[in-house]
Amino acid sequence: MRASIDENKRVQDARMNPWKSIDITNKDKIRFTPLGGLGEIGGNMAVLETETTAIIIDVGMSFPDETMHGVDILVPDFSYLHTLKDKDVFVIITHGHEDHIGATPYLFKELKFPIYGTPLALAMIENKFNEHGLSADSKYFNFVTKRKQYQIGDMKIEWMHNTHSIIDACSLAVETPAGTIIHTADFKVDHTPIDGYTMDLRRYAHYGEKGVLCLFSDSTNSHNAGFTKSEKVVGNTFNTLFELAKGRVIMSTFSSNVHRIFQAMERGVKHGRKICVIGRSMERNVETNRALGFVDIEDKHFIEVHEVPKYSDNEILVITTGSQGETMAALNRMATDEHRHIKLKPSDTVIISASAIPGNEASVSSLMNKLMKVGVTVRYKEFTDIHVSGHAAQEEQKLILRLVQPKFFLPVHGEYNHISKHARTAVECGVDERNILLMGDGDQVEITTKYLKKVKTVKSGKTYIDNQNNKTIENDIVLDRQKLAEDGIITIVAQVSQSSQKVVGKLIINTHGIVANKDDKKFEKEIEGLVETMLLGGNADKLKNHRDIENEIRALVRKFVVRTKKRYPLIIPTIFVV
Ligand SMILES: [Zn+2]
Repeated sequence: MRASIDENKRVQDARMNPWKSIDITNKDKIRFTPLGGLGEIGGNMAVLETETTAIIIDVGMSFPDETMHGVDILVPDFSYLHTLKDKDVFVIITHGHEDHIGATPYLFKELKFPIYGTPLALAMIENKFNEHGLSADSKYFNFVTKRKQYQIGDMKIEWMHNTHSIIDACSLAVETPAGTIIHTADFKVDHTPIDGYTMDLRRYAHYGEKGVLCLFSDSTNSHNAGFTKSEKVVGNTFNTLFELAKGRVIMSTFSSNVHRIFQAMERGVKHGRKICVIGRSMERNVETNRALGFVDIEDKHFIEVHEVPKYSDNEILVITTGSQGETMAALNRMATDEHRHIKLKPSDTVIISASAIPGNEASVSSLMNKLMKVGVTVRYKEFTDIHVSGHAAQEEQKLILRLVQPKFFLPVHGEYNHISKHARTAVECGVDERNILLMGDGDQVEITTKYLKKVKTVKSGKTYIDNQNNKTIENDIVLDRQKLAEDGIITIVAQVSQSSQKVVGKLIINTHGIVANKDDKKFEKEIEGLVETMLLGGNADKLKNHRDIENEIRALVRKFVVRTKKRYPLIIPTIFVV
C-alpha cells in the first residue's frame, strides 16, 4: 500500500505542475511588450517577439478622459513598432471589439503587415479600412480557422474559440522557440451560449497538459467573485419586458453584441413586432453579421425607419445605438427630440441593455434624465439580468489558471488594481508568486524557460484622434486646450518705440477665464501698469528684439497671476518695436 500511496502522490504532483516537463536547458528567449491595455481598460495592443519574428496582438482604441478636449478616440503610440524593421512582423487579431481592432486603420496608414484573424473580426476591420480609404489593404488579410495551427514566422499559432460579448472571439495558443504561450484575450466561460459554441476548454487542457511557459489572461472583472452569468439569462429578461411593454419597444446595446441583438430580435418577432435597426454602427454590424450568417432572421421581419408609422405601436421593435449616452447616437437624438423619424412618446419602453463603461457614467446618467423627462418607461438596472458582462469573474479565471497551470503568469487587460487582484487569484491557484509580474504599458519583459524579468521600458502612450476627419490631433494642441480650459488666457498687444523706450499708443490687454467679466477692467489695468513699468525700466538693447521683450512680459505677468490668482493661464504677448 505504501508504494501505491507514494506512486499516487508522485502522479498527483506531476499532474498539478505540468510545466515542470518544460526543458529548462532550452536557451531561447522571447520578449513581451504591452503597448496598450495595461494600466487602463481598453486600447489593447501588445508585441510578442522572438529573434526573428514579432507578432502584434490586437490593435485597439480607447476613449479620452474629460481633460482631453475635442478628442474623440485614442490610439496607441506606434513608435516601438517602427523599431521592428529587421523582423518579420504580423498582426494577430483575437476578436472584433473596438478596443482590439479600432486602431487598425491608423496603424495601416503608418505601417502595413499581414494581418490574421477570424472572419467577423476581419470583416469589421474591412469596414474600417473602407471608411479610411484603405480598401486595397484587405489584400493583407488572412482568414483563420479555429483549431488549426498556423506557421507565422518562427511561431505556430492556434486560434481557440472563446465565449465573449461578441461572436467569433478567440484566445491564442502560441508555440514559440522558448515554449508555449497562451493569451486568453477577452473571455468569459459561458456554458450555454446563444449559438451553442462553448469555449474550447479542451484545447486549453491540451496545451496545459503539454506544459505552458506563460499565461496572459483577461483581468477586467478580477474583482467579481463567482461566475459571470450566461448571455442566455438576458433573453429571459427580454421576454418579461416585451410582455410588459404596451407601446413601441426601443432597445439599445453595444452594436457589436450580436447575440444580445439577436435575442432582442427573436423576442420581438415572437411578440409580433417588426424590427427597425437605427444607427450607423448598428446598421452596419447587423448587416455584416447577417451576411456572414451569424444573425438568422428572415428579411420579412425587418422594416425601414420610414415604415414605422405604418404599424401600430405594439408592432414595433427599434434596435439602436447609444447605450453609453453618446451624444451623436440615435437614442440620444430621440431623447432630445432631434431624431428625424422617431419621436418618443410616453407609451414607449426604452430598454438599455448595457452597463456604463468606466468613464461613461455621467453621459449614461444624462441620457436617463432626458428619457425620463420625456416620460417613457426606461428599463435599465432594476432588472439585474438586463445585461451581463462579457468578461470572466474569479471562478472562470481560476478555471483557466487550473487548466493551463503555467509556469509564469502575466495578468493583462486592466488597471493596476485589476491585474493585482488577478495575480492574487493566480497565487491561490498554485502559481508561484515569484513567477508573476505586474506590468504597465511600455514595460518589456524577457521570458525564458528559467526566468521572467523586466528588461526595459519602450515608448508608449496615446495619439489623439478627431473623429470628424479621422485625423491626428497633435499633443500640444490638447495641452493648450487643457490650459485654456483650466487656467484661461491673457493676450497683450503693444507697440513700443525703440528710441523713447515707451509704449506708443495704448496697450491692448484681454483676459478670458481668469476673473469675472465685471472685474476684467480692473485686472487688465493692473497688468497694464506692470507691463508699462517694465518697459520703462528696460534698456535700449533689449528693445531691438521683440521676442526678448515678449518672453520678459510673459514671465512677469505669469508671476503676477500666479501670486494673485493662483492660476497658470496661457499668456500671449505680441510686441511691435517701432
Ligand atoms: Zn472584447
